Amino acid sequence: MITSLIIVGGGLAGSEAAYQAAQRGIKVRLYEMRPRKSTGAHISDKLAELVCSNSLGSNLIDRASGLLKAELRIMDSLIVSCADSAAVPAGGALAVDREKFAETVTARIESHPNIEIVREEVRRIPDEPCIIASGPLTSESLANDIARVLGSEHLYFYDALAPIVNADSIDMSIAFKASRYGKGDDDEGDYINCPFSKDEYENFVRELLHAERIQLREFEEAIKNGVNAGPDKFFEGCLPVEIIASRGEKSLAFGPMRPVGLTDPRTGRWAFATAQLRQDNLAASLYNIVGFQTNLTWTEQKRVFRLIPGLQNAEFARYGQMHRNTFINSPTLLEPTMQSRARADLFFAGQITGVEGYMGNAASGLVAGINAARFLTGLPPLTFPPPTMIGALCHYVTHAEPKTFQPMKAAFGLMPPLENAPRGKRDRAKRYAERAMRGIKEMGEMKENVMREGKGK
Ligand SMILES: Cc1cc2nc3c(=O)[nH]c(=O)nc-3n(C[C@H](O)[C@H](O)[C@H](O)COP(=O)(O)OP(=O)(O)OC[C@H]3O[C@@H](n4cnc5c(N)ncnc54)[C@H](O)[C@@H]3O)c2cc1C
Repeated sequence: MITSLIIVGGGLAGSEAAYQAAQRGIKVRLYEMRPRKSTGAHISDKLAELVCSNSLGSNLIDRASGLLKAELRIMDSLIVSCADSAAVPAGGALAVDREKFAETVTARIESHPNIEIVREEVRRIPDEPCIIASGPLTSESLANDIARVLGSEHLYFYDALAPIVNADSIDMSIAFKASRYGKGDDDEGDYINCPFSKDEYENFVRELLHAERIQLREFEEAIKNGVNAGPDKFFEGCLPVEIIASRGEKSLAFGPMRPVGLTDPRTGRWAFATAQLRQDNLAASLYNIVGFQTNLTWTEQKRVFRLIPGLQNAEFARYGQMHRNTFINSPTLLEPTMQSRARADLFFAGQITGVEGYMGNAASGLVAGINAARFLTGLPPLTFPPPTMIGALCHYVTHAEPKTFQPMKAAFGLMPPLENAPRGKRDRAKRYAERAMRGIKEMGEMKENVMREGKGK
């Protein structure tokens, strides 16, 4: 029986995966190309280097990211344990001293008797059992090989995240359901439409153009001229909404906000311009603002996009962005166990699977590491239940609509709806968290049983 595993990439996902597999008695060879070869964003040779913010999000259990951390603690996550030990004061959030954090992860991995670190670039998907966790800046040779093996139509080099809002925060006394020219599956209409008067449109465009933007990195400059950014953008130059707006006063009204064929049932007419929202999950609790990928800062997105009629009280489950980001079409290619559908000994983890956020990426690494170990020891894979945040995230990235798939971070809207859900947002969040903690404790006990059977150390 093979009991060794190759992991490509020593970032958040790869380090977590290596630890989980090694704890279960698997001999791991962890390949990290730094410092020999750089990604363009990392600056050190340490594992789990945080490339940007030193905040790992909320620590409060009634926040999506806080719940994810609570679940990861129960599952004995290396990344969360190292983050806890490197924490700096940050109110309700978990922020870390980034150097101490990366040093602690590196030391824990280096000293693990079952892990060998190899400082080399992997240029092809290995033929042996492996986890690919090479991140948003996967090296070019490996990316080419991934495209060769999975099909180039399933690999993307930029993301184009449109903001997502919670459906119950949309004001349906202003917005209306309709499909363009009534051509949809649903009689009521497949889209939620937000109609603008001329004044509202002009004000919106003015605010959009003056809003603060996130600075693009050198390797992201191509975004300003349009890039291929995902399955439905494959053949066109996809642009941030503020760049489209800058090309002419009416460019949005003739582009993503064109109102033609969208009759407002209250006026019987087409509006001056219309922002459309498309359903984003099966439970219809999340809607994305179509074509509104953006590099506005989060604060500015909240301010400017709340000027859209009907979204004045919108709650954002995900903010928009456009970044350099290598990711695969996981809904077509992966199981929620992070296992390839085509090859049972091939796993993917981290940002390359379309998971967003430091903690989400650690979580997908944890799932891949546990399941690769189970595969190698002849145990069936574990699917984390969708009522847990880890399970909800893995479920989303492997069950989203493949044609419009874009990366996603932890959010309560990804979880199955609650029965008799309370009306208040915080009460609902608490109920989601209680349900998730029951589910994850069962998964934790399962892990203990496997360890007691002598598979782990
Ligand atoms: C510029 C930038 C800023 C970001 N800012 C944030 C932020 O503020 N907050 C946030 O939550 N997320 C941020 N992200 C996303 C962030 O990258 C992820 O949340 C997280 O780092 C992803 O974890 P990962 O393990 O998938 O990838 P990484 O942490 O990037 O790890 C992948 C590792 O694989 C290595 N590698 C790549 N190719 C090969 C190869 N062929 N062979 C061997 N090793 C290889 C890389 O050197 C790297 O160490 C940012 C991303 C970028 C690019």
